[in-house]
Amino acid sequence: MELFDVTIVGGGPAGLYSAFYSGLRDLKTKIIEFQPTLGGKVNIFLEKMLWDVGGQPPIVAAQFIDNLVNQAMTFQPTICLETKVQTIRKEQHYFVIETNDGTAHYSKTVIIATGGGIYKPIKLAIDGAKKYEMTNLHYTIKVIDRFRNHDVLISGGGNGAVDWAVELLPIAKSVTLIYRKEELTAHEAQVRKLRESGASIMLNSELVSLQSNDEKTAIEQVVICQNGENTTAKMDDIIISHGYDREVSLDFDAAIRPERKDDYYLQSIGKCQTTVPGIFGAGDIVAYEDKVNLLIGTFQDAVLAVNSAKLYMNPEANHYAMVSSHNEKFREKNQALYAQI
Ligand SMILES: Cc1cc2nc3c(=O)[nH]c(=O)nc-3n(C[C@H](O)[C@H](O)[C@H](O)COP(=O)(O)OP(=O)(O)OC[C@H]3O[C@@H](n4cnc5c(N)ncnc54)[C@H](O)[C@@H]3O)c2cc1C
Repeated sequence: MELFDVTIVGGGPAGLYSAFYSGLRDLKTKIIEFQPTLGGKVNIFLEKMLWDVGGQPPIVAAQFIDNLVNQAMTFQPTICLETKVQTIRKEQHYFVIETNDGTAHYSKTVIIATGGGIYKPIKLAIDGAKKYEMTNLHYTIKVIDRFRNHDVLISGGGNGAVDWAVELLPIAKSVTLIYRKEELTAHEAQVRKLRESGASIMLNSELVSLQSNDEKTAIEQVVICQNGENTTAKMDDIIISHGYDREVSLDFDAAIRPERKDDYYLQSIGKCQTTVPGIFGAGDIVAYEDKVNLLIGTFQDAVLAVNSAKLYMNPEANHYAMVSSHNEKFREKNQALYAQI
């Protein structure tokens, strides 16, 4: 039984910054994340520019997450990916965190940083579609350059679909957007831009079939049904943007459920503490007056949650960490960096 000081549930921005800060406070730290990668819901919009993070010039979300992950690894926390926390219960002096693979994790404190829960893209309901996910059927865009000079079809009419279409206009050979309703529902300015671009927009339309010559390889053409009539089009890539299903199934023990059971948020009773001593919350999952549901808000929560965890374990400890430049452990680990300053 390996006992950690802090176990963080969720490896999004709040979890990652909590891990960094926990290391800074000399705590033995673990992150448990359901998805195969760290970064949280920022993974949904990896190519989007972030403009509103203090001290950070506009940055592509993917790069921002890389930076956050690198920073989180400074003190080498233990990372468990593709692992879903199902229950958290208190034993005498520690918590037992049970995960979907049947493992029990042991920790003196827990920081819940599960954000909006587990996001899963709504998949295309066409038989056999799954096998193309390895080739040219996409639910997110990781590297936009992949689509250079390709004929790209995007299915969806919301912000995600229209934003991708606009981003792809200067890169792709052609962009076709199909949507099952009569009007696109995305932001007007983006819709206007798309309409003026010459991209093909097919309303009242949906994908009915994906076709390839060789079953094992890629989609070569698609069948689109528009107003009851089928047309066939050759495509290099198909992007599905039908939204996300959100699962908020962290099965809390009754003792740590928020007061209102219909509310999935964790209520902070101050300094990101919950009603259960030893369990803290950070990021979008936490509710308190004036909470900011943005990246910058997750950082403040992470600091508060880690400092609260430190004090819970050691009431004599400093209430907050020294500024990072005064932290000896940090200096040791970053001597090369300091030498350059
Ligand atoms: C489309 C979009 C655009 C945005 N743009 C901006 C922006 O420009 N600027 C800005 O500041 N903010 C922006 N935000 C908000 C920002 O993304 C969030 O505030 C931030 O991601 C919250 O981080 P978090 O770590 O609290 O939660 P999340 O990012 O949701 O991460 C939570 C993590 O917990 C994991 N998890 C959940 N349940 C479990 C479980 N039971 N077991 C294990 N793991 C679990 C999830 O898989 C996820 O990885 C945007 C959000 C969206 C959706």
